[in-house]
Amino acid sequence: MIKINEIFHSIQGETSWVGWPTVFVRTSGCNLRCRYCDTTYAYYEGGPRSVESIIVEIQTHGAKYVCITGGEPLLQPDIHILMRNLCDLGYKVSLETGGSLDCTTVDKRVKKIIDVKTPDSGAADSFNVKKPPIQSRFFHCQQRIQIRDLF
Ligand code: SF4
Repeated sequence: MIKINEIFHSIQGETSWVGWPTVFVRTSGCNLRCRYCDTTYAYYEGGPRSVESIIVEIQTHGAKYVCITGGEPLLQPDIHILMRNLCDLGYKVSLETGGSLDCTTVDKRVKKIIDVKTPDSGAADSFNVKKPPIQSRFFHCQQRIQIRDLF
């Protein structure tokens, strides 16, 4: 089971997959409290969903790109099952994570997008990235800067 905040279909506005129709799966809960956070509603709101029901809902949207975001998706162990199953089904999967948790166990087929926490975030001491390859995002005050294939 995974606690899900929302699932919706939109156009990817970030990363090297910008512009692609994408299903966003937003998990509930986050271990950080960044000053600039724009998804505070995901801290607690949401409900448990089975991996199977999440995949069925994703399939209704017809997109081949899936972005796993949060909150912090890696707080929930079953997120690995979801990502692996989506990859097996042929989806292109990206994971947005806050950089405080180990992502070395994430399926190799998943594109890992790591938010590097700058001093202004208030969570800079949380950064704990161990392994490439990743894409990184830096939030400088209120301005988002995309650094592709940094490592
Ligand atoms: S890691 Fe993301 S969801 Fe969590 S507090 Fe920071 S900006 Fe918000």
